[in-house]
Amino acid sequence: AAAAGDKVDYVFKVVLIGDSAVGKSQILARFARNEFSLDSKATIGVEFQTRTLVIQHKSVKAQIWDTAGQERYRAVTSAYYRGALGAMLVYDITKRQSFDHIPRWLEELRSHADKNLVIMLIGNKSDLEDQRSVSTEDAKEFAQKEGLFFLETSAMQATNVDSAFITVLTEVFQIVN
Ligand code: GDP
Ligand code: MG
Repeated sequence: AAAAGDKVDYVFKVVLIGDSAVGKSQILARFARNEFSLDSKATIGVEFQTRTLVIQHKSVKAQIWDTAGQERYRAVTSAYYRGALGAMLVYDITKRQSFDHIPRWLEELRSHADKNLVIMLIGNKSDLEDQRSVSTEDAKEFAQKEGLFFLETSAMQATNVDSAFITVLTEVFQIVN
């Protein structure tokens, strides 16, 4: 981690979107603070958290925005998307409905965001394999069709959370350079 006062070369805004309870806030807690909580009550009042990492010898501050409980369709305001260079589009692999809503979220995202926006589709809660209701293949196929990156994560077990953010941030880095 970078110490206070270290020079930051880039600040990249990344937004988290997707249905309520898919694990957005816990993915953020895992990435920003390496924390996880099973009884996460809606994150009230926190707009974003940051983590600074090094990408190709440059210091990149990721500013990750969380919806704080506005996850209804069209309830997320355009200010939330403004300036975002990356997006994590999250569903829960055990909740089919959260995957079925992804095209809507994608449409909303694309109507608000930068045309070069880098999007990662995330199937979270991969630790709950016995309750899976969305196959990896279905999600992969959708991601390919829409030109999205795709990973399954577990915020609980810290699986692929860093990889998901690093993939998006590295891609954004390539685009701005
Ligand atoms: P949000 O509404 O999308 O922000 O969802 P939260 O981050 O608040 O998570 C909703 C619930 O799912 C909480 O009880 C979390 O502890 C739980 N949760 C989040 N991520 C995971 C995960 O990877 N695995 C499991 N088993 N539970 C998770
Ligand atoms: Mg939340």
